[in-house]
Amino acid sequence: MFCTNCGNEINDKAVVCVKCGVAVTPMAASSDTNSNEWLTALLLCFFFGWIGIHRFYTKNTDIAVAQLVLGILSCGIISGIWSLVDFILILSGSYKKGNGQLLTQN
Ligand SMILES: [Zn+2]
Repeated sequence: MFCTNCGNEINDKAVVCVKCGVAVTPMAASSDTNSNEWLTALLLCFFFGWIGIHRFYTKNTDIAVAQLVLGILSCGIISGIWSLVDFILILSGSYKKGNGQLLTQN
């Protein structure tokens, strides 16, 4: 890829252009973060979804607490089904984070 500031060719994984010192592709860096966030939420949902850990992780705190309580009360049965639905939502990119943004794979 090329530096957006000076046009110098730089390594795809570079954070800063070595020629002009300008930070490169904040877009790519943020989509990397999103991708990790998506995968982390997916794995948390799969393994700990029945106690709402993925909801805590994505800052849906109210729902997280409800899922945790329901998980304990129903021995994970109801919240297990709920987390399965969440798992499918995360996979399909329809899952909403606490800030209202969709959690996408990118
Ligand atoms: Zn540059």
